[in-house]
Amino acid sequence: MEYEHILIRYGEMALKGKNMRSFILTLQENLLAKLKEFPQVKIKRTQGRMFILLNGHDPEPIMDICKKVFGIHSLSLAIKVDNDVEQIKEAALYALKKAKDVKTFKVSVKRVNKQFPHGSSEMNQLLGTHLLVNTDDITVDVHHPDVEVKVEIRAEATYITSENVPGAGGLPVGTSGKSLLLLSGGIDSPVAGYLAMKRGVQLEAIHFHSPPYTSERAKQKVLDLTKQLTKYGKSIRVHIVPFTKLQQEIFREMPENYGMTIMRRMMFRIAEAVCQQEGILSLTTGENLGQVASQTMESMHTINEVTNYPIIRPLVAMDKEEVIAISRKIGTYDISILPYEDCCTIFVPKSPKTKPRRDKVNAYEARHDFSESINEAIEGIETIKITSKQQESEFEDLF
Ligand code: ATP
Ligand code: MG
Repeated sequence: MEYEHILIRYGEMALKGKNMRSFILTLQENLLAKLKEFPQVKIKRTQGRMFILLNGHDPEPIMDICKKVFGIHSLSLAIKVDNDVEQIKEAALYALKKAKDVKTFKVSVKRVNKQFPHGSSEMNQLLGTHLLVNTDDITVDVHHPDVEVKVEIRAEATYITSENVPGAGGLPVGTSGKSLLLLSGGIDSPVAGYLAMKRGVQLEAIHFHSPPYTSERAKQKVLDLTKQLTKYGKSIRVHIVPFTKLQQEIFREMPENYGMTIMRRMMFRIAEAVCQQEGILSLTTGENLGQVASQTMESMHTINEVTNYPIIRPLVAMDKEEVIAISRKIGTYDISILPYEDCCTIFVPKSPKTKPRRDKVNAYEARHDFSESINEAIEGIETIKITSKQQESEFEDLF
């Protein structure tokens, strides 16, 4: 006897009413895509649950992958047996023995199949006794057991599980539409992207790159961050914008203390153009309130003027420590802290305006025609598709 199933519980998804079917199908698709390298794996849906059939594959690496997939509330290794008391007893004992460091247990029988001849409390008794008799130094604790052996008697079969592992939560990636993530090489924006994905958003990313002031390695860092994000969802396309000329023009033509604000407005303008081209309906940023000079309410108000696309800012209410904790958890922190300059750190004005005003910035921008450089930047975009496995350069001609 061995575990040959993984039982997947959806949690929140079950509440989603008429969308439920498409949510479940997306979750199934996302799981299958992640488990491609395990060719024998099959996924089955039954009322309110999903089962992964391992068909001989080792359960551990598959569990590790599933734990990162959004839309799963919890998962457990499961044994499937016929609706037969002897087989159920044997499986329950196996599940208890497989659990580590167990001193106390509890059996919980759920009889979904009302045709089954024994009631659930009768089965609880029967199985509890069987487990006690066949183990040493393990006792029953109905309130705080180390392990709960769960037995679900369903129409088609009985499933036995012991350990309940928390899933990644959230909603399946792809069920909430697409957003364009403004991805720098910093700590914040990858975390923002992760949190958007957790709410079911499929990401594309845009990065503003200023060679030779920013190096190839700074660009590679952004691609590495993206790759890390694909572990939580599907492949992600990254649009790399050549930003040098526009940045130089801003710092040559505009008052220095407004350079940062105008640069950010240019980023939003170009990002919106990419959204229009790609049919994406929102932007996502790692902006936060009050962290640095450029992130004041006045600054957000002035920068936001150039686009009426919704901007998702998952970090807006978080403390830096919370953001760092997430970035460590999701594996982006160590990449983010690599010391390659990004375009914002290079053209930093000595004293950026912390409270930039819309009327002033509009007056400044009206003095110079940036349209040619903006178009050039958009036309020069290189799009790279990052998958969790390999990285293929598409060099698509997008515009
Ligand atoms: P991060 O840690 O994400 O770099 P930050 O705390 O450094 O953010 P800012 O420099 O004010 O904050 O940037 C705010 C947001 O603007 C970033 O979170 C990111 O979404 C976007 N951004 C900044 N620089 C770039 C860039 N070079 N390419 C794409 N997006 C950028
Ligand atoms: Mg930054």
